[in-house]
Amino acid sequence: MTTNKHALNVTRSEDFAQWYQAVIAEADMAEESGVRGCMVIRPWGYGIWERMQRLLDDAIKATGHENCYFPLFIPLSYFEKEAEHVEGFAKEMAVVTHHRLKAEGGKLVVDPEAKLEEPLVVRPTSETVIGAAFSRWVQSWRDLPVLINQWANVVRWEMRTRMFLRTAEFLWQEGHTAHATEAEAREETLRMLEVYRRFAEEAVAMPVIAGEKPENERFPGAVATYSIEAMMQDGKALQAGTSHFLGTTFSQAQNIRYQNAEGQLELAQTTSWGVSTRMIGGLIMTHGDDDGLRVPPRLAPWQVVIVPMLRDTEEDAAVLDYCRDLVSELQGRTAMGEPVRALLDARPAKAANKRWAWIKKGAPVIVEVGPRDMAGGNVSAIRRDRLYQDNGKLASTIQPRAEFAGGVAALLEEIQTGLFAEAKARLDANVKRGVADFAELESFFAESVKFPGWVEVEWAKPSGAELDAVDQRLKALKLTLRNVPEDAAPASGACIFTGQPAVERVLVGRSY
Ligand code: AMP
Repeated sequence: MTTNKHALNVTRSEDFAQWYQAVIAEADMAEESGVRGCMVIRPWGYGIWERMQRLLDDAIKATGHENCYFPLFIPLSYFEKEAEHVEGFAKEMAVVTHHRLKAEGGKLVVDPEAKLEEPLVVRPTSETVIGAAFSRWVQSWRDLPVLINQWANVVRWEMRTRMFLRTAEFLWQEGHTAHATEAEAREETLRMLEVYRRFAEEAVAMPVIAGEKPENERFPGAVATYSIEAMMQDGKALQAGTSHFLGTTFSQAQNIRYQNAEGQLELAQTTSWGVSTRMIGGLIMTHGDDDGLRVPPRLAPWQVVIVPMLRDTEEDAAVLDYCRDLVSELQGRTAMGEPVRALLDARPAKAANKRWAWIKKGAPVIVEVGPRDMAGGNVSAIRRDRLYQDNGKLASTIQPRAEFAGGVAALLEEIQTGLFAEAKARLDANVKRGVADFAELESFFAESVKFPGWVEVEWAKPSGAELDAVDQRLKALKLTLRNVPEDAAPASGACIFTGQPAVERVLVGRSY
């Protein structure tokens, strides 16, 4: 096998969008369900989601939050209490109006007599219903802060859907908190943004830029919205998680009031924050290559997959035993703070097919064991992050079994670090700074069609109609404002949109 012949029938450079779909299909991650925008998440895709859940859930709990569960159906009137929230979500809401069907000539039809008194919205997000609970739970300053999270599915009737990236139904966690003071709520908003940044970088190995969204990109009802933005391998931006400071918007609408230490009634300050199955799309477009997915070891449901080379001979039993021993030895070891997840793939398929199936799925290490390896006390290991040798052949290293097992933790860590470094180098090399005016921005994106990258420009942070005008100018170039990076250098020049003195720097890019 040579480097110009790969496991997928379409490469990233040929057609990135097609390649993305090919990875999902060939890695057995997800498939269409028959309902537009809703997907079936298969075990490998769901296994990655479970790993994401596990690690993010630990981080959410380590910062003092508890999990709970709220209903899927939210009374329509809850949404009507907050005008901006209604505006933002009205176009995407699925609504249940009846609670019964009846059979008519072999068909099921809606029973008009079973009309609900009040329509129920399938939750697109839960600020309203959780706010109503907060108003019951919070009476005095002693009841604050309330720090909760829920893992759930939500429905937003999106018109243009893409697996994982934008689906009509998606899985996520949504954190919701209530605080006594604005300062505390703002601090919480930024704390969770940092939890997301660390999760993206340390677990997903996906470098991100964290910062505040401009006013026109805020969550409906938020006073401030922050995001982490990741650069995909086609140079586009993916908003991979958001954290919102909601001020008193929802406490006013849902009447979340508490008596302060002086006995006066005050409105609570709330926050909300979410990360969804979109993160899996980010993982694919950050680490995938022309042979399929590459899963960072921390997220891999199986980190080391052992493929026995069976020959239909008496020796097979011994090879399998040898492999079983190896699996238990690996499982007894710790890598990155957890037991190594090792799997013996003993399915009755050809070893070469199994090997390629795991390459496409992106298991970090694939170990092949044949009678010759066994006889020598060896294993043949393939690193998914370095699949080929310089001559284009598959890189497989034969080494003593004990040496492999002894080095597996370091190997997995090296793969995790290496994937991050590769993505970080790409991000760092493709954020252009020092764009002096709008014409330069325009020509930059005109010249870099295939890989747009991002620009970080100085601006005067216009608002209202002035900001809308900026947004329109950018939209005409298929660009959007991403965020104001929290660690950007201070502004020193003129706003590239208005010519006024700039106050900060904002990222502009093409996005998903
Ligand atoms: P939001 O509540 O709008 O701030 O959304 C929280 C996060 O969920 C966003 O930052 C996205 O990463 C993700 N998200 C939003 N809409 C979708 C969608 N249609 N499909 C998948 N993920 C989504």
